[in-house]
Amino acid sequence: MKSSRSWAMAPVLGAITIILAFSGLSASAEEIVLLHDNDQHFDFNFVDGIEAEIIRIRDENPNVFHINCGDIFVRHSARWEEPDNLDWYANQARFMIETMNRLGYDAIAVGNHELDHRETHTRDALEQAEFPLLAANVEVTTDLLPEFKPYTVFETEGGHTIAVLGLSTGSFDGVIRLDPIETAKEYRYLAEEHDVFVAATHIGYTADRRLAEAVPELDVILGGHSHTLLEEAEVVNGVLVAQAGGGGHYPDPEKPMYLGVVRITLEDGVVVDKAGRVITFTGEEAAIPAGAP
Ligand SMILES: [Zn+2]
Repeated sequence: MKSSRSWAMAPVLGAITIILAFSGLSASAEEIVLLHDNDQHFDFNFVDGIEAEIIRIRDENPNVFHINCGDIFVRHSARWEEPDNLDWYANQARFMIETMNRLGYDAIAVGNHELDHRETHTRDALEQAEFPLLAANVEVTTDLLPEFKPYTVFETEGGHTIAVLGLSTGSFDGVIRLDPIETAKEYRYLAEEHDVFVAATHIGYTADRRLAEAVPELDVILGGHSHTLLEEAEVVNGVLVAQAGGGGHYPDPEKPMYLGVVRITLEDGVVVDKAGRVITFTGEEAAIPAGAP
């Protein structure tokens, strides 16, 4: 049986090798795509176009993981479309989570706008998420928020693992927030245990750069909070730092939306290449930048 199976597999493996050689990847190489976005603040404009683009990327790539970097809600009740109306807030929060479930998000690093809870509505909406809620440096002491996980692990088709550490910001009732960079240092061991070590943060661009200087074990930092549009991800101390813009805190149907795309190439389990670009949506059509990875 064994020999006949390997005989049957031989042409398949041969074909795979040819395909990999053709795409410039060796047989031991694997490519990972991290989709990321942040700071939508209750708006999911042009969602049909975004969904079509996500489906295209998932169809064309085997290892795609979609991570949100926080502030999907708006905490200031005066800036809601119906100011101070908690029912409106609850509906909008549920809409954001339901949309993210439909689009197949794989994780969120919660932002300060998620930590500043509104009665039970913030928790009730977040608990509907079909993906992990991450914040390694946040300890929850109220039952008005769900528990957050410090990190999650994704596995590729080839059996490589990606650890994603969540870091957040903001001090509110019912949460104890620890220093994000000091916290990240405590999770350095994840770089040893996994092939790729990613921080999904909601601490802002300047802090992301400081994090890259302090924790070079990270391969990639996906950021939020400062609404920084890095059309091309930057390399800081060997760490790829990416952030995909963000919108204002007021409802705005014209607000552009952004989808970051980071590509990582592994060779024998080692990251040999990484780059990131941001796709902009100002209508249903995706504006894919030249040289998009
Ligand atoms: Zn924020």
